[in-house]
Amino acid sequence: ETTANQIAAGEVVERPASVVKELLENSLDAGASIISVEVEQGGLRRITVRDNGCGMDEEDAHLALMRHATSKIREPADLSRITTLGFRGEALPSIAAVSKMTLKTRTAAADRGIFLEVEGGKVIGKGPAAMAPGTIVTVENLFYNTPARKKYMKSPGTEGGVVGDYIFRLALARPEVAIRFTHNRRQVFTSPGSGNLLDVIASYYGAELARQMVPVEDSPGDWLEIKGFVARPTLHRSNRRQITVLINGRYVYSPLVSTAVCEAYHTLLPAGRYPVAIISLTIIPELVDVNVHPAKLEVRLAREREILEAVSRAVRKSLIASRL
Ligand code: ADP
Ligand code: MG
Repeated sequence: ETTANQIAAGEVVERPASVVKELLENSLDAGASIISVEVEQGGLRRITVRDNGCGMDEEDAHLALMRHATSKIREPADLSRITTLGFRGEALPSIAAVSKMTLKTRTAAADRGIFLEVEGGKVIGKGPAAMAPGTIVTVENLFYNTPARKKYMKSPGTEGGVVGDYIFRLALARPEVAIRFTHNRRQVFTSPGSGNLLDVIASYYGAELARQMVPVEDSPGDWLEIKGFVARPTLHRSNRRQITVLINGRYVYSPLVSTAVCEAYHTLLPAGRYPVAIISLTIIPELVDVNVHPAKLEVRLAREREILEAVSRAVRKSLIASRL
């Protein structure tokens, strides 16, 4: 069991940002409306994620630390209609296997919370916790027992930057949730939870850039809806990571959709430059396979060519509408 968790950890937990991603996704799945992420030394020393979500009772808290004990899929058929961000039930046990983790949690019905202290995957302490309803997960000394992995970590500054990138993308996926990120006690990013994508964009890129974004909105059929914002061609960047793709509320890595966005700009961008863009696709779940990789960053799409063409067309339409 411990070995299996460490192997799974190798796939799910690559660096501090992957821990933050999994914990943040759990908070979102728990229905939280306010989440705070505090990170020290790029997350290598400590990561704390607090939420005001549904919390867990004692039994569920213990279960949460066991492999494949997800509460999110009840039957096999559910796999084709995944609406939660998590579903594999491997994140918490994987993270716990390679760190010192403290899980504090309380449901709204309970009059107090409980804490579980876990080291290298083993519960070494538990007791009552005075806290508001919700969950607080603290992960310390990541990779303390897997020195080979620890060696590959970049500087705290770089790791903290990657953490910030992930948080931004998840905040874009859920603009209605207030998300705060502090690194070494300095506030880096605050998404206000207004539900407005532009407010999230402004909190990351600044108000000036947010003002220069052009809305994208198109629905080629009732199976596909395209929404988002793209920057005027003058606001280009030097790497394509500034193109964020969301599919059904999930931040994904999709070079194909990114390329479709770039194609819409055609000759408007200088060589080697990329637009700032947020493209959010809502596709009927039957056409989306998110179960490609344990970290769930990649998706497989049916009717891919149609989708890519629709994205290009929608972005082009917006750029033309903004008279460029
Ligand atoms: P998954 O998200 O794939 O189900 P995880 O290992 O990430 O698996 O979490 C295991 C279980 O622990 C979840 O299914 C959920 O029931 C519970 N859980 C984890 N984090 C939270 C949280 N922040 N609030 C409430 N429940 C949580
Ligand atoms: Mg999860």
